[in-house]
Amino acid sequence: MPEPLTLRTPLTALAGVGPARQKALSRLGLETVADLLAWFPRDYEDRTVRHDISALPLEEPVCFAALVAEPFRTSHIRRGMDITQGRVVDGTAAVYVTFFNQSYVRNALIPGQTYHFYGRLTQNGRRLQMSNPHFEKEGENRLTGGIMPVYPLTAGVTGHLMASLQRAAAACADQILETLSDDLRRAYDLAPAPFSYREIHFPTDWETLARARRRLMFEELFCLTLGLTLLRGRRGTQLATPFAKQDIDAFTAALPFPLTGAQRRSVEEAAADLRKSVPMNRLLQGDVGSGKTVVAAACAWLAKENGCQSALMAPTELLAQQHAGTLTDLLSPLGMTVDLLTGSMTAAQKRACRGRLERGETDLIVGTHALLSDPVDFAGLGLVITDEQHRFGVDQRAALSAKSGGTRRPHVLVMSATPIPRTLALMIYGDLDLSVIDQLPPGRTPVETFLIGEDKRQRLYGFVRKQVGQGRQVYIVCPAVDQADPEGMKAAEQYGHALQTQVFPDLRVGIVHGKQKPREKSAVMAAFAGGELDVLVSTTVIEVGVDVPNASLMVIEDADRFGLSQLHQLRGRVGRGQHQSYCILLSDHRAESTRKRLKTLCSTTDGFVIAEEDLKLRGPGDFFGSRQHGLPQLKLASLEGDMRLLHQAQAAAREVLREDPDLRREDHAPLRRRVEDLFRENRDIFN
Ligand code: ADP
Ligand code: MG
Repeated sequence: MPEPLTLRTPLTALAGVGPARQKALSRLGLETVADLLAWFPRDYEDRTVRHDISALPLEEPVCFAALVAEPFRTSHIRRGMDITQGRVVDGTAAVYVTFFNQSYVRNALIPGQTYHFYGRLTQNGRRLQMSNPHFEKEGENRLTGGIMPVYPLTAGVTGHLMASLQRAAAACADQILETLSDDLRRAYDLAPAPFSYREIHFPTDWETLARARRRLMFEELFCLTLGLTLLRGRRGTQLATPFAKQDIDAFTAALPFPLTGAQRRSVEEAAADLRKSVPMNRLLQGDVGSGKTVVAAACAWLAKENGCQSALMAPTELLAQQHAGTLTDLLSPLGMTVDLLTGSMTAAQKRACRGRLERGETDLIVGTHALLSDPVDFAGLGLVITDEQHRFGVDQRAALSAKSGGTRRPHVLVMSATPIPRTLALMIYGDLDLSVIDQLPPGRTPVETFLIGEDKRQRLYGFVRKQVGQGRQVYIVCPAVDQADPEGMKAAEQYGHALQTQVFPDLRVGIVHGKQKPREKSAVMAAFAGGELDVLVSTTVIEVGVDVPNASLMVIEDADRFGLSQLHQLRGRVGRGQHQSYCILLSDHRAESTRKRLKTLCSTTDGFVIAEEDLKLRGPGDFFGSRQHGLPQLKLASLEGDMRLLHQAQAAAREVLREDPDLRREDHAPLRRRVEDLFRENRDIFN
């Protein structure tokens, strides 16, 4: 007698799973019955059987019952192509069913018997037709007869296999431990766990499916909130140096411009955090060009006033160099020393730089990952700032925090130009406090954006020439580096050379891309920034941070290849000076959805609106799927319309933690395990 199935049973114990399939399944991370149950459908098909054929809608998938009225016949159309046809009927209509290259169905469809068919009905004259439907004998109810799950699959795992494994696993749904107490389920009207796990795979009807999904989404958001709150709480027990002296007026007096209201508010929010002996952990969000650097400088000034050093990490060498320059300009009038440490410096240069840090001669060190990977000792690190947070994971932030040594933790300021809808940000950065710079410095004219096709390329080149003629500079961005790209995207190298030799022989064209050596890259960038180049052809390496106020035109080739937020970032490279600036999106992509996406960019320059739209059009997958945030991946909690559920889950989490701050109670054991699972890579939450 076979062992009874449990949640822990390995999938190899299930019928039909040999070594090959087991390997394929484990590619999806599926090893046990429990894993299967947690592998949710990505979609559903309504294969509920309907009976009145004449009343069925056309051109959309439907399932109906019909009697085979005549034997199906196969005819050969040409070599390698045959069709098998027959007529099926119910009391209201007949359907002509056609199969291509599936002559075996002839024997499976027996005249006089009733079958279920699932496919798209079309009408040709007065004839109803259906091609290549799924079908099965009435009463079999494996392919039809209800709402069928559609699973994410991989090579070697068919939908059919997945469904049959899931059917076997569903028998174990009752063994799943409840993580939500009766009280909680009653308060928020949530279905029990076993019901939800059964229904999400094999729904009885749409309503029970909705109930199941709601419960499982709630649970996911609930556990996410719990984990993030626990992370935040752990921070609360750490010590940082409080920055008690706060002469912000001395800082603002030394600035070449007054702070905007939003900048002032952000500085005040950070300053209030820095006064405490708990480490600051603040996210500073502001659109490109909103002036985040000054806020960072203000924090570094507060650190200096209180005898502490600061470190700023940038994602690229280029940015680090630029930041070091900007921050030197801002802070040296205040008597602060700013230094640069990057990977491409010589060993001797690095050694000298580290020496100055150890001796406390450097107040603010700006660098790339070299700051993390090289042995750097600080005399007294009190503040860590990271720019463009989406490139740094939670763990990297932690690594730098650890550099401060001793028992004191540095304060942390994270800057991001990726505008994320506020509610979403609260969730993604649940362990961070949030400041938003939602105002641009005065005197900026919004960038005008146009979407054009290949037919306007010559006019575009004319426009480039005109801008350069007026003394301006131009960026041209392409999606790829070289022609190895099979889809023929504009390659920066080749395209740049072609432009220089064939289109703009009289202009100065530079090329910059990610495959160049850092030194080469920064030489080109420096030339562009210094006005020695008219046109800069590049890949997205210029995406973040680069500041050349004289540049007034951004051309983006194959714009459809980029996400909206990324395009918005690129556009932010122009419009940084007093000149009217333009962004031209080139794309011949005709798909309605693509055009709509790109048109959004033409109609607004508000990064938050664009992020919102990106979220709507592409779904939250980009935010949660990329893992760039270093946060757990959510399965269900797509955020469309789920904000209410998120708020409920957050309220519930607060309540639970009020009673059991560390989730130590016996009856919270299953919940605690679920949270740990969700934060698998951050297991130390509980330590
Ligand atoms: P980002 O938020 O993209 O990092 P930056 O800090 O690079 O923006 O600032 C963009 C530009 O705006 C810089 O040239 C900076 O000198 C200028 N700037 C910042 N704040 C102000 C302000 N309050 N008034 C005028 N110009 C400002
Ligand atoms: Mg910046």
